[in-house]
Amino acid sequence: MVIFILACTRTPYSTTNKQYKKQVKALSKKIQQAPLKDSLNSVGSWVGTTNFNLRKPNFVIIHHTAQNSCEQTLKTFTTTRTEVSAHYVICRDGTIHHMLNDYLRAWHGGSGKWGNTTDINSSSIGIELDNNGTEPFSDIQVNNLLLLLESLKKTYGIPTANFIGHADIAPTRKIDPSIFFPWKILADKGFGNWYADTTGQTISADFKTLDALRIVGYDIRDSTAAIRAFRLHFMQDTLNILDEPARKILFSLYRKS
Ligand SMILES: [Zn+2]
Repeated sequence: MVIFILACTRTPYSTTNKQYKKQVKALSKKIQQAPLKDSLNSVGSWVGTTNFNLRKPNFVIIHHTAQNSCEQTLKTFTTTRTEVSAHYVICRDGTIHHMLNDYLRAWHGGSGKWGNTTDINSSSIGIELDNNGTEPFSDIQVNNLLLLLESLKKTYGIPTANFIGHADIAPTRKIDPSIFFPWKILADKGFGNWYADTTGQTISADFKTLDALRIVGYDIRDSTAAIRAFRLHFMQDTLNILDEPARKILFSLYRKS
């Protein structure tokens, strides 16, 4: 009878939580290895330094889950074969699930590029917002996201410009977070760059838009995709043209970069 009650009070994730601990233990062993056996194998002589700490995240990548519930996403991120995960999942009701230690590498970015950074997963925190991609984000969800961002920015000294979206780093593959995501609200609080008032702004005649997109951070190998990602983030639409309003916004961002 007692066993039955215990079984009922177990969380649906107790098995995967155990698996988490096991995997962390295996990774710890790798770090504890001495003499070192990583890149140089056993060729050189080992002298351990006494001055070091952990590497830390320098980017935050924001996503929407494109799923219908938080439960669905937790299930996806605890199923081995999906090979996807994030550090945090924020539900529509504002609940924040912390799924992976900030110092460990989640699998949320996939192949992507921002500036010269290519292995985004190694240098970023991934935050997934429970949202199907065609609906607005709830106030409580955004408010709790802001609280989390505040803490991450302070703890790791993440630069303002390095709070970006999945579509920004993978413009040919991704469209999240959607046009409903309030980037301006984030930027007003210091999370992500924003453009200055473009009223009356004149653009220099030699302004090269693709160079500007690249300097802002976009991978311009597919320029149409890069423009679409830029507009998704800064103009909240899905167009892929650099018309006058877009050029002015880009010019302002370029001058800040
Ligand atoms: Zn994503």
